[in-house]
Amino acid sequence: MRLTGKGKAKDIYLADNGDIIFEFTDRVTAFDGAKKAQYPHKGKVCCSLTAYWFRVLEEKGIPTHFKEKISTNRMRVANLKILPVEVIWRNYVAGSLWRRFETGEIKLPECTEAREGALIPGGMIEFTTKFEAVDRPISTKEILDSGWMTENELDHISQITDKINDIMFNHLLRKDILLADFKIEFGRAPDGKILLADEVGTPDGCRFWDRNAFIRGELLSLDKDVFRKNKGDLSAAYIAIHNRILKE
Ligand code: UDP
Repeated sequence: MRLTGKGKAKDIYLADNGDIIFEFTDRVTAFDGAKKAQYPHKGKVCCSLTAYWFRVLEEKGIPTHFKEKISTNRMRVANLKILPVEVIWRNYVAGSLWRRFETGEIKLPECTEAREGALIPGGMIEFTTKFEAVDRPISTKEILDSGWMTENELDHISQITDKINDIMFNHLLRKDILLADFKIEFGRAPDGKILLADEVGTPDGCRFWDRNAFIRGELLSLDKDVFRKNKGDLSAAYIAIHNRILKE
């Protein structure tokens, strides 16, 4: 097994049989790497949640590259060619969508109130670059013009992302958690099949809000916004959301 790369939060190894081993570390970064720290338990929380969601999604017919969890913070996955776009699904206005609206860069989707925490009826999908120094939003036209994927593949990814949202949103609602938004990635297998890849359903890559607080008019973050906005101890917040999601 040899180290082939270091992501912001994961170390990536190539196994002797050609599989990839993800090691989820305790590193945390925000604002394109400008804010950095280490928090105990973070790696094992994200590893456990990713394995959990890969299994839930596979059971519902979403093909993923997950093979097995091999220790508290490591998993084996199939080696794919990762597509150079990050896919973002939003159910509520938050994060960079709200910031871009406030600076006048974008309009909000139709029938969406202009406030942080507003519901986006029907949800929305966005794409950002993955392999550039700073992630930037890109249009579907730019994705197709760059030849990164075909129109059929882009349609397929959009449909699968919508389905993943339905599965995760409804699953979390039963635990009184609102899935405000999330980011996922896809990769292409040697046979051309597109599979869900990387990390999914973790507080690093999703915004989770407490539903009861939301009903009272408060946005109570149960995710990396705790770190982004200095709202408390990330280790405690990550362990809490982990236990809440995994509790039957
Ligand atoms: N996200 C992520 N990795 C990125 C960018 C975004 O996991 O490189 C997640 C983020 O945690 C949030 C969602 O994607 O759940 C939407 O992020 P947004 O565009 O609002 O940017 P942010 O303000 O979170 O950087």
